[in-house]
Order: sequence, then C-alpha cells, then structure tokens
Amino acid sequence: MEKKFCCEKFRFRYEGNSEMGLNFRIIKLSQNFLDRGYWGDNVYRYYITEGYHVFDDKIKAIVMEFCPFCGKKLKSIYKSDEYINESNHPY
Ligand SMILES: [Zn+2]
Repeated sequence: MEKKFCCEKFRFRYEGNSEMGLNFRIIKLSQNFLDRGYWGDNVYRYYITEGYHVFDDKIKAIVMEFCPFCGKKLKSIYKSDEYINESNHPY
C-alpha cells in the first residue's frame, strides 16, 4: 500500500537520510516503555532531529504534534507501523 503524506515538504524530510540535516522521524514506543506505565491514545511519536548516526538521548530532537508546514495533526495520518522509520531508540 502506498503511504499517504500530509504534504510534500513533510515527505521530503521524512524520507531523507537520518544523518543529513534536519529530518522527521516517526517512531513507535517500545513495549518495554509501555509496560512501565505509559498511557495515552497514540503509541507513535514524531520528531524533528538535527541528523544522527544513532538515535539516543544525546541527539537534539523536538517532539512534534502538528506538521510545521501544513499544520495537519500528525497522528491523524501517521498511525500505523508502516510509517516507522526508526526502531533503534531508547523508549
Ligand atoms: Zn504537512
């Protein structure tokens, strides 16, 4: 199934290499993290990062709720595992 995107600008940053410039990453909270007491209605998280080799606590990243380009609510679109582009993260 072809992925849908809120806008082309988001898609560009989402599909870009994680090591290059600013980019968007979509991650899913790990079962381990969920078991430790997370509660909420969305297990996905949306980040802008400055580019990284390893996604860990040291990278500079901002959690996003809305697309900064078109304003759409990210969880209304990116809510399935096919969008995950980083699974090596600490949470
Ligand atoms: Zn957008």
